[in-house]
Amino acid sequence: METVRRKNRATILQYINDHGPASRKDLADVIGLTPAAVTQICTELLREGILQETGQNVEQSGAGRKKVLLDIDYRVAYVYAINIEPEYTTIALSDLKGEQIACERLKTDASIAPETFLKHLAKRCQKMAAAHKKAVPHIAAAGVGITGLVDRAEGSSIKAYGIWEDEVPIARILGQVLELPVFVENNVNAFAVAEQLYGAGREYDHLMVIKWGPGVGCAMIIDQKIYEGRHAKAAELGHFIVEKNGALCHCGRRGCLETKVSYPVLNRITPFAEEEFGLTYCKAKGHKEGIAFDEAIDLFARSIVNSATIMAPNRILLTGSLFASQIIRDELVAACSSYDTNWGEGKVIYSQLSDREHYIGPAAVCVNRLLFGES
Ligand SMILES: [Zn+2]
Repeated sequence: METVRRKNRATILQYINDHGPASRKDLADVIGLTPAAVTQICTELLREGILQETGQNVEQSGAGRKKVLLDIDYRVAYVYAINIEPEYTTIALSDLKGEQIACERLKTDASIAPETFLKHLAKRCQKMAAAHKKAVPHIAAAGVGITGLVDRAEGSSIKAYGIWEDEVPIARILGQVLELPVFVENNVNAFAVAEQLYGAGREYDHLMVIKWGPGVGCAMIIDQKIYEGRHAKAAELGHFIVEKNGALCHCGRRGCLETKVSYPVLNRITPFAEEEFGLTYCKAKGHKEGIAFDEAIDLFARSIVNSATIMAPNRILLTGSLFASQIIRDELVAACSSYDTNWGEGKVIYSQLSDREHYIGPAAVCVNRLLFGES
C-alpha cells in the first residue's frame, strides 16, 4: 500500500513538473487514477506545502466552469548543490527548480586530506545558508556531483580521477557536519538528471549527454532512466580507444579519446583559456595548430557517431566549456556528417542548462530524491 501511495505521489508530481500546472481532473484523466484518489493525494501534498493552488483556468467545456490548477511550490525547501571537479569546486544554494540563491567557486584542493577538504566545504555551505537565512528558511538535503566512479547507495566516491585515488565516504563526512541527507552522484550523470527534470529529458526518452571540458564525460538516458552498467562504468566515451599504441591514459589503458582531446592536451597544441576555444580555433585555421584541432574534433566525432550507432538516442546533447562556442559545435556536427549524411540538422543539440552546469546536476539529484523518490 505504502509503495503504491508513494508511486502515485511521484507520478502526480512528475506530471506537473514536466507539463506545468494541472487540475485534479486533468491529473485523474492522464494518470489513470480515480478522481477520489487524486484528490486524496493532492490534499496531502497541499498540506505538506509541496503543491500549491495557482489560480483558475477556464474550462473548455462545461459552460465556463472554472477549475483550480495545482503547481509544485519549488520554494517549499532548498538544497545545497556541491560539484567537485579536478580544477574547481562549486557550492550553491538552490531551490527545487534549480534556480540558484547563492553560488561560489573555489579551487579543488586535492593536496589536503579529502575529509579536511569536505569539512571545509560543509562549513562554507553553512556560512552561505546563514547569509541567506531570510530567503532560505529550510534546507532539506545536500547533493554532490563528482568526477569518476561513484557508489550511490553508499554515498561514496570510489575513484575520482584527478582528485582522489582512494574511496572517500563523502555522504558520511558531509552529513556529520551538515546534519542533512547527502546524495552523491557522478557529475555527468547528475547533469543528466537535471536534463530529465528541467531540460531535454522531459521531451526525449533516449538521450546521450556529452560534456567536453576539461575531460570528456558522458551519460546515457535510456527509456527515461540513466543507464550505468556494471559498477557504474557505462558511457565512458572519453575512454574509447582511438589510437594504436597511443599515450597512456589515467584510466590505465592506452590511446583513449581523452588522451587526444582533453583540455590539457589541446592546450599543449596552443595555449588558450577553456572558454576561448572557438576564438582560438578560428585563429589557428590554416596553420598546423588548426590541423591538430581538426584531428581532435574528427576523433571526437567518430567516437560519437559510433556510440550513437549502438545506443540510437533521440538526441545527442552537448554541454561543457569546450562546447560553449557555436563554431566548435558546428565543426563537430560537420565532422559527424562527413561519416553519416543523416547527421544534419537537429540530431545534435546544445543543452539549455549549460549556463547552470556547475551546480544544477547535484541540485537535481536532491530534488529527484526528495520529490520523486528516485534513487
Ligand atoms: Zn582512458
